[in-house]
Order: sequence, then structure tokens, then C-alpha cells
Amino acid sequence: MKMVIERKQEGEARRLRRELEELREQIAALKTAVEEKPDYGMGEGDPSITRWELDQAMLGGLQERAVSLERQLRRINRGTYGVCEVCGKPIDADRLTVLPDTILCIECARSGGL
Ligand SMILES: [Zn+2]
Repeated sequence: MKMVIERKQEGEARRLRRELEELREQIAALKTAVEEKPDYGMGEGDPSITRWELDQAMLGGLQERAVSLERQLRRINRGTYGVCEVCGKPIDADRLTVLPDTILCIECARSGGL
């Protein structure tokens, strides 16, 4: 049983690393795109400014996602992925699907953890 879980986590770690790699490429590309801030003197509604703001917002979202993925990978590497950090019980798989980087089981979360 333990082996099965470990193998599943290996596959999960590979998937996360691949996603993280893609994310980092997107982040690098977006960073280059937002480096040149358009001139606001051209007035509101300039499509290049809207585009820049969208890129900025997207960059923020991608960076947050990358941080979350890194956290999940660290936990898998420590062998604690899917295990509640408070009570040490396995976290429900459905809960992990919805909240992949949660560190608490549903009981501990309800009793006011995070
Ligand atoms: Zn718990």
C-alpha cells in the first residue's frame, strides 16, 4: 500500500515539475513583455496600456501559481504531501483536488487552522 502511494506521488511530482517549467517560461516571456511600460500620456483607453495591464495581472496570477506549485513539490519531496500538518492524518483526495496546496485535513481546517 505504501509503495502505491509513493508511486502516485512520484507521478504527481513529475506532473508538477513539468507544469512549473511551463509556468516559468510563461513568466519569463511575460516579464519581457511588461518590461516596456507603455506611455500613459497617450490617454486612457489606449489598447497598448490595456494590454500591458492585462499582462501585469496575468503575470501576478502565474507567479502565485508557481509559488503554490513549488510549495506542493516541497511537500511531496518531504513526503508530507496529502498529510495534514496538524494531526498527521491523510487529507481527503477530493479536498486535495479542490485545494491542491492545502496543508490541513477538513477536520483541522474546520476547527480553525487555516
Ligand atoms: Zn488534521
